Amino acid sequence: MPVDADTERCIKVLALKNAVEHRGKAEADAVVSKFLGSRSDLRRTIKDILPDIKAIIQDINSLSPDGQKSMLQELAPEEMKKKEITSPPSGSQLPPLEGAEQGKVVTRFPPEPNGYPHIGHAKAAIIDEEYAKMYGGRLILRFDDTNPLKEKLEYYDAISEGLQWLGVKPDLIKNTSDDISLLHDYGRKLVELGGAYVCTCAQDRMRDLRAKGLPCDCRADHTTALDRLKGFFGTLYDQNQAVMRFKGDMSDQNTAMRDPTLFRIIEGDHPKLGGSVRIWPTYDFAAPIEDSVDGVTHAMRTKEYELRNALYFAILDRLGLRKPAMIEFSRLEFEGVPVSKRKLRPLIDNGTIKSWDDPRLPTLAAFKKRGFLPEAIRKFVLSLGITLAETKPPFETLEAFNRKIIDPISPRLFFVKDPVEVRVRGAREQEVTLKNHPTDASLGSRRVRAGDTFFIAGEDAVHLKVGDEIRLIELYNIKIAEVRNSGAPLVAEIGSDEIRQSMPKIQWTAKDDMIDYNVMIPKQLYIGDDYNTNSLEVAKGFAESYAATLKPDTHIQFVRFGFCRIDDGYTSIMSHR
Ligand code: ATP
Ligand code: MG
Repeated sequence: MPVDADTERCIKVLALKNAVEHRGKAEADAVVSKFLGSRSDLRRTIKDILPDIKAIIQDINSLSPDGQKSMLQELAPEEMKKKEITSPPSGSQLPPLEGAEQGKVVTRFPPEPNGYPHIGHAKAAIIDEEYAKMYGGRLILRFDDTNPLKEKLEYYDAISEGLQWLGVKPDLIKNTSDDISLLHDYGRKLVELGGAYVCTCAQDRMRDLRAKGLPCDCRADHTTALDRLKGFFGTLYDQNQAVMRFKGDMSDQNTAMRDPTLFRIIEGDHPKLGGSVRIWPTYDFAAPIEDSVDGVTHAMRTKEYELRNALYFAILDRLGLRKPAMIEFSRLEFEGVPVSKRKLRPLIDNGTIKSWDDPRLPTLAAFKKRGFLPEAIRKFVLSLGITLAETKPPFETLEAFNRKIIDPISPRLFFVKDPVEVRVRGAREQEVTLKNHPTDASLGSRRVRAGDTFFIAGEDAVHLKVGDEIRLIELYNIKIAEVRNSGAPLVAEIGSDEIRQSMPKIQWTAKDDMIDYNVMIPKQLYIGDDYNTNSLEVAKGFAESYAATLKPDTHIQFVRFGFCRIDDGYTSIMSHR
């Protein structure tokens, strides 16, 4: 039974939508169930038209992702998803985008799946997303996966998870490797047009010539280039025996234009394509083509690529492809914390750091573990704007954004580091109620059993002299009666009822109601160029038993110590002071 025109259109649109949302491949089951959702009258006879549906899907899946998008745009423009227009959070420093038209802005975030996403990626992704939102446009997440030796499925997943945690929602997710045939085609075309050639010179020779600004012999002859083209995309050459180069200008002041590599031969299993592809485009070639065919209107990247803009546009020029606008911003770095994957991966590989979520790292997984909220990261990034200045913002600025959000929701608890025992003569046993927050009653309270033996932080104890009066917060004042050395407890008496301004007010734990407790305190990873061997301090002491009842991920403040995220019943990780 052939399907009628209306049904065909309906199925086409559903299949295109499904394909666009799923990296170019529509799934028959999904399409059929969507279709039946609106045409339940066909439930019993669907079998008869199933072959037609499958044929339509097959046709659509054979189109390039770009072809699918333009067909969907044509058949059902209302289905091409756009970002809802929302104004950026207050404090955003993003200037208007030059040449941006309402509803037509397309941005993209192109991470290479060769490591875990970090705060620098957050900056790029958030800026890309905020601009798409500002103009009711679209954000593309494009995994820039053209080096099988470096990329792993684990990293695609880590990037997706990181962005999800950040609340960055792409309208389309794709891989550069999805378009590998298209990229090969453009490579061939560029050679045919005389804009590129296959070079078989040894790497050191080429390095030498590029430094001197001299051309090699492979460059001159167009017929040789055409002859070599087939072999290059075939199996004539082994890895390192040939590359495809852009025909730029070997004496250009801008060394990026001195015949840079566009394709190289890499033998290795690609996480998505396996071993079927061995000719891989470089970033320099893939980025402009992908941006152009994906419909990107505003491409943004970090400033170190500035010198490669000329190449980006020259490639599109020679191929006659549409050119996006290019916008640069500075790389986000912090003092003493390497951000680049290039610097982070060795620390993991050589075992200095055990995992990508170690709280000392600037990865998103680490920030999460440390108790930073995605909203704080977004506000921080937007407060920086898109300046080109290479100044490192103080880490404290990011902390301040986070503190502002977690301060009102964090219960206050007591932790005493390097505890010192205090006996209070004549103290009666009692159960006291402590407020979880000094001003917000909605955070509740807790009951603590207190006898005559307490612990206070070593730091507080060292200053005490006989006769000093101090206040145990929310309990009572005590007056020091005896200080004895070598680990023996301090002895005190119950003090006056007066709470004086000048009196030290300190946190405590009661011997009858406390647990052993650790707080991990991440510090700067590097001091100057040297790895800081004390970068992860573990503060040991006692916390109130109540701490063990809090669920992992709860934000708390240990009074006079710092904000922390509960990791398990006996450990928390310090976010910041
Ligand atoms: P890395 O050195 O960490 O590998 P990269 O630039 O090679 O950095 P990609 O995964 O290729 O990493 O980056 C994806 C996008 O994120 C790029 O557009 C890049 O400009 C941007 N980006 C990467 N690091 C930073 C950073 N520190 N600050 C701002 N943007 C960054
Ligand atoms: Mg990179």
